[in-house]
Amino acid sequence: MKPFTTEIVSADCCIVGAGPAGLMLGYLFARAGLRVVVIEKHPDFLRDFRGDTIHPSTLEIMRHLGLLEEFLQLPHQRAEKLQTEVGGEQITMADFSRLPVQCRFIAFMPQWDF
Ligand SMILES: Cc1cc2nc3c(=O)[nH]c(=O)nc-3n(C[C@H](O)[C@H](O)[C@H](O)COP(=O)(O)OP(=O)(O)OC[C@H]3O[C@@H](n4cnc5c(N)ncnc54)[C@H](O)[C@@H]3O)c2cc1C
Repeated sequence: MKPFTTEIVSADCCIVGAGPAGLMLGYLFARAGLRVVVIEKHPDFLRDFRGDTIHPSTLEIMRHLGLLEEFLQLPHQRAEKLQTEVGGEQITMADFSRLPVQCRFIAFMPQWDF
């Protein structure tokens, strides 16, 4: 067992929880010049699975933040359409090609990479 240590940290803002909301909030505050601490009770992201799809609207936010190019360099798969077969017939369930965003696809990426 690792010995318990205490560290005193000074910040303008403390966010509890390093999920998508906490990390994004911390990132935005830090970009605005605040000293931010984000506290997470888990040591890593290798825990309960919560999907791996990055939606077009999420990608658009990444674009607005200037992070999209770097993000898309990470290994991922893309789906422009979601299709299924019912009674031997191909059916399109979702078609992202007409969305008013730059990335008209869903990106699949493991959460720990994202
Ligand atoms: C099965 C499943 C699949 C999903 N698939 C997708 C998907 O493919 N694409 C998608 O966009 N969304 C998906 N979602 C939704 C997505 O996971 C949530 O919208 C998102 O995680 C919410 O983010 P959050 O930061 O609000 O909360 P959380 O992700 O729950 O983050 C909260 C964080 O706070 C930490 N925490 C809690 N209490 C404390 C404490 N006292 N001290 C320190 N840390 C603490 C937790 O450990 C956690 O890391 C899925 C959800 C589920 C359940």
